Amino acid sequence: MFHDMSTVEDTRTDFADATITPVPITVAHGDGIGPEIMDATLRILTAAGAALAPETIEIGEAVYMRGHSSGIEDSSWESLRRTKVFLKAPITTPQGGGFKSLNVTVRKSLGLFANVRPCVTYNPAIAIGPEGMDVVIIRENEEDLYAGIEHRQTQDVYQCLKLISEPGSRRIIRYAFEYAKANGRKRVTCMTKDNIMKLTDGLFHKLFEEIGAEYPDIEQDHWIIDIGMARVAARPESWDVIVVPNLYGDIMSDVAAEIAGSVGLAGSANIGKNCAMFEAIHGSAPRIAGQGTANPSGLLLAGVMMLVHIGQSKAAERVHNAWLKTLEDGIHTKDIYREGHSKIRVGTKDFADAVIERMGQLPTMLAPIHYPEVVKQIVIEDELPKVPAVQETIGVDVFVQHNGTPDELAASLLECQTVALPLKIITNRGVKVWPQGLPETFCTDHWRCRFQSDKAITHADIIALLGNVDNKGINFVKTEHLMTFDGQLGFSLAQGQ
Ligand code: NAD
Repeated sequence: MFHDMSTVEDTRTDFADATITPVPITVAHGDGIGPEIMDATLRILTAAGAALAPETIEIGEAVYMRGHSSGIEDSSWESLRRTKVFLKAPITTPQGGGFKSLNVTVRKSLGLFANVRPCVTYNPAIAIGPEGMDVVIIRENEEDLYAGIEHRQTQDVYQCLKLISEPGSRRIIRYAFEYAKANGRKRVTCMTKDNIMKLTDGLFHKLFEEIGAEYPDIEQDHWIIDIGMARVAARPESWDVIVVPNLYGDIMSDVAAEIAGSVGLAGSANIGKNCAMFEAIHGSAPRIAGQGTANPSGLLLAGVMMLVHIGQSKAAERVHNAWLKTLEDGIHTKDIYREGHSKIRVGTKDFADAVIERMGQLPTMLAPIHYPEVVKQIVIEDELPKVPAVQETIGVDVFVQHNGTPDELAASLLECQTVALPLKIITNRGVKVWPQGLPETFCTDHWRCRFQSDKAITHADIIALLGNVDNKGINFVKTEHLMTFDGQLGFSLAQGQ
């Protein structure tokens, strides 16, 4: 079911340009404070002369309750696939099992691989946040631990797979460099934990260096995520563009937004090859819903990013500057209002009216925003396949459930080993416990038993080994093949191996 803009109050249209054909977008008013901030946002965008033809869809709580486990209906997908641009208010995710995250579903279904989150402070216009912070976090949006592949493997142990792909990493890293280039940014920083995760995070880091070499005019560096994130918190003004795998990006973008000031101030874009979604970073704030006090700025700035994306940069610029002027004039919603600093405390609607009144004005204390008239869309082409590496299987890690000592397990497994696949090592939670483990090592009921050859083996060799393990009554719960690619190990060594 689609509605037109008739639900949105009529506003000044002095800036409307009749020569621009309205661009179809899909709009969802969401839950909690969503409808209030969406109405304010659409009124401001319209007043700035944005030429939009919104189709409204319903998502969120009511849709979940009607039995759609991802909070979205088929007709909504049709709209999204038609307009390819989604302006989304926050939704309430119902508590309890069985409900899937709408955000993750939309991001993955529409291939929105890049999450772009500017975290900016507006000090001294508002009395929160440090001075000079202007960071853009570019988070990979589809892979990593968010692949959502989890298994309980034994009584004691649960597993979540961290998947980092070469094509997925290439396109987010290239996107970060292209974003920096398109937006006049000077530096791109990559953060990973590749001192520990040498294959997965190591790949991300390696590709950052490889792709970065194509952008010699942009400064680039790599930080280990723990100290890197701590430095973002301690010296927020000293970063520019940061590109990170999914989980680190999720955490860092919330940390950075929190440091920047109110969660009510930040917008974000989720960009894919064909579609894009724009939203505030905050949730539906159910405690303040219906009170008319919410700050619409996060969704409004997401709307500005959307206008730039669809090529309406003049309207985007008007909104951004009128909004900055409103902040400078001390007209603040409750979350950013500070006694002695702010001038007028306003609700959502009056804040929107104040921005609309200032349409066409520039800020004087903060730097005015300028978007080029023609903004080139960042298009990341799929990279041509490389020559495939020569791949050989040289062993197998057999994960087994066992209650007992490592030596007891090793004694049984030595009876199962074959000429092709001798037992090399047993680890528990990654630490070597056989041969010659330490009695201090804490062991669970989940053991990784590595059978490894020094030459290529076949699947039949693995099946023969597993047959022996099964006949011995050992409960194997999963296997991972040990492979080499062009002679390079495609697996990590055990701690202590
Ligand atoms: P929240 O972001 O809704 O609220 C956190 C705090 O910030 C609250 O104190 C809230 O009052 C305040 N706040 C948030 N937005 C504000 C605004 N615009 N103006 C003024 N104050 C604002 O986070 P939460 O309470 O953890 O989550 C509430 C619901 O939102 C949950 O159901 C959660 O699943 C959902 N959520 C949705 C999204 C999304 O749709 N993108 C994102 C995060 C959380």
